[in-house]
Amino acid sequence: MLKLPIYLDNAATTPVDPRVLDAMLPYLKGEFGNPASGSHVFGQTAARAVARAREQVAALVNADVTEIAWTSGATESNNLAIKGAAYANIKRGKHLLTVATEHKAVLDTVQWLKTQGFEITVLNPESNGLISLSKFTEAIRDDTVLASVMLVNNEIGVIQDVAALGKVCHERGVLLHVDAAQATGKLTIDLATLPVNLMSLTAHKTYGPKGIGALYVRRAPDVPGAPIIGQMHGGGHERGLRSGTLATHQIAGMGECFRIAQAEMSIEIPRIRAQRDRLWRALCDINGVQLNGDLEARVANILNIGVSDCDMQLSQLTEVSISSASACTAGQASHVIAALGVDAAATMMRITVGRFNTNAEIDFAAQYLREKITGCRTRMAA
Ligand SMILES: *Cc1c(COP(=O)(O)O)cnc(C)c1O
Repeated sequence: MLKLPIYLDNAATTPVDPRVLDAMLPYLKGEFGNPASGSHVFGQTAARAVARAREQVAALVNADVTEIAWTSGATESNNLAIKGAAYANIKRGKHLLTVATEHKAVLDTVQWLKTQGFEITVLNPESNGLISLSKFTEAIRDDTVLASVMLVNNEIGVIQDVAALGKVCHERGVLLHVDAAQATGKLTIDLATLPVNLMSLTAHKTYGPKGIGALYVRRAPDVPGAPIIGQMHGGGHERGLRSGTLATHQIAGMGECFRIAQAEMSIEIPRIRAQRDRLWRALCDINGVQLNGDLEARVANILNIGVSDCDMQLSQLTEVSISSASACTAGQASHVIAALGVDAAATMMRITVGRFNTNAEIDFAAQYLREKITGCRTRMAA
């Protein structure tokens, strides 16, 4: 028997893997010490858990442990990276560059910096969601200090070519920040070769708990800029980048979920891709259905479709839990879809497959969504 409703909103958040929960529980029970309490065994045990998790997080992105600073999630990492780099480099210039399809945690941060006297350029992507390298290059000015471009888009799943963008940034002395919240466990990230200075990470899109993330800060700057200055002042934790007592249980959970991602990605991704494609095959021939985002440069788990002439509310889909865009902007029209210039009057559906979806669930959801969409279009045509 299928358990309904079926969760197909894994880009909003993922369930916590049971192995992750098991890795967290000791630090909510007997091993409750403060990792900064080095003088006794309680603190030392917690510190060891934090060190292990730091290695696991660094390993997934091929970074050094000294380059990982814990935060509360990708929203905070984006704020810390962008504000931190903007203020650290204020003497070199005040121009920041980003893209209209970024997450609100990037867009609202640069908009706020604009009110503080920074100048910003927000580039539009092409209609497939990808940034044109030549437009990006042209937008860089002599006073540009930072560019912020996401690796995987959370609504349409397209993968930006951050290697190429980073090369241009490097040549022009611009720091590159990359929001990789949707990328961990979905594609290989190699910071030893990627020309990226700052990268935002989070646990809860990769089967870990909510409320924990990290910021990668490249140790040896490859451009003249200072990396970042801390935005949260206090005990000087995380080398002064982010004060606050470390949340040992959350950190242990993030380490474990990144460890699993690294170990299982190569078998998990083909399975999820097959399930996503099965869904798409069931829906693609319906009149008025179109796929949003580039067909090639995309992750395996995200399907974003527009259905024209359909007045359906997604809350009517009681048996299958999907979303129209990102969870953070629920209820508003998607700024990502708007930036692509596609039919914005269409009903948008973001269907995202995850580790725990079964083939039976996919088949049920495919048939269910097909019936709902065709029913809605017949009604509209009548
Ligand atoms: C979810 C998400 C965020 C926000 O991450 P939190 O850890 O929930 O703060 C930022 N950027 C992208 C691309 C996301 O998908």
